[in-house]
Amino acid sequence: MNAYDNAMRQLEKASQLINLDKDVLAKLSAPERVIMASLPVKMDDGSLRIFQAYRVQYNSARGPYKGGIRFHPQVDLDEVKALAFWMTIKCAVVDIPMGGGKGGVVVDPKSLSLAETERLSRAWIRAFKPVIGPEIDVPAPDVYTTPQIMAWMADEYGQLAGKPSLGVVTGKPLEYGGSKGRDVATATGGFYVLSEAIKEKDLEPKKSQVAIQGFGNAGSVMAKLLFKAGYKIVALADSKSIIYNDKGLDIDKVFEYKKNSGALSGFENSKEISKEEFFALDVDILIPAALENQISKDNADNIKAKIVLELANGPTSPEADEILYNKGILLVPDVLANAGGVTVSYFEWLQNISNNYWSEEEVDSELRERMIPSFQAILQMAKEHKTDLRTAAFMLALARIESASKIRN
Ligand code: GLU
Repeated sequence: MNAYDNAMRQLEKASQLINLDKDVLAKLSAPERVIMASLPVKMDDGSLRIFQAYRVQYNSARGPYKGGIRFHPQVDLDEVKALAFWMTIKCAVVDIPMGGGKGGVVVDPKSLSLAETERLSRAWIRAFKPVIGPEIDVPAPDVYTTPQIMAWMADEYGQLAGKPSLGVVTGKPLEYGGSKGRDVATATGGFYVLSEAIKEKDLEPKKSQVAIQGFGNAGSVMAKLLFKAGYKIVALADSKSIIYNDKGLDIDKVFEYKKNSGALSGFENSKEISKEEFFALDVDILIPAALENQISKDNADNIKAKIVLELANGPTSPEADEILYNKGILLVPDVLANAGGVTVSYFEWLQNISNNYWSEEEVDSELRERMIPSFQAILQMAKEHKTDLRTAAFMLALARIESASKIRN
């Protein structure tokens, strides 16, 4: 399964339904610009390694390109193109005045020392400096990239530019231009949307069983928020194993255990299950919060959850979308469910360029005010057109991109 093919099929489906202008469709069928670079990085042992890196600037009809940089061994150009396209849609879904972009480096980040990671991050900025900037293209964290990495990147850019330029990347640490609430924003946005979605399915937090795939920034923070709100998290997966306890996992203890042992495997009173078993669990809410292509025509039929909340980007294939919709499962799509991250990134960028910083309460209420109405608008649209939430989200986003595109030519 190719993520970009999936993305283009999603585009086609929604464009037909709104009769999208053919020139706009043509523009959205390919990225505006793709930049590839080879990053030379000195390893700690003195040897030199070359890393393949990308930045895809997909569409800027609504503003500067926006989107994270991923460090992962499986990064490839089609994946980055798909992710950059989804950023274009995502920013339009939550109505932030940004376009879509994405970057990546083919690297196993776990094999690098801290110093090597710093040199790689700075090398990324040196390679892409001519095409990024606070008013041009604003990267952020994604899979295996952290606030510390963003700090090195902002510092490198500032040194090259000869002036502090905090608005060049978002997701920075608080002490260096970061925004309050950015670290928990993806999960918090997902939490707000889920709180609305459960009403549609007559679920209540304290009676809902949840399975979460992924223990990165999105999945782990979501586990904490849901646990605190009384949801019962019965299954949790990191990149190595999946733990299960039908009575519910104590998430505070899971965090402690993962911190000390570096793994989920072996956590008290839990058993390990396979990925196949995970997707077939009899839970109310299933949250893919890891990578693309997890729910396909091969396992969609087994899913018993009433709600699928996509905190990951692109976890569900178009065939699986159809299967889930026909089964009456409410799938809250990535471009809405995980849009809290880029929303608070946008708030961070606003704070950086105005040099005026917001309180945690302000960030949180502004985030809420974007997530909940966006969910309601999409739900309404889906009901009106008798379609799924992803198609409805695309329809809403495409109409916004279309009007921005057309007013200019
Ligand atoms: N990587 C995140 C995403 O996929 C955040 C992007 C951003 O903050 O620009 O939405």
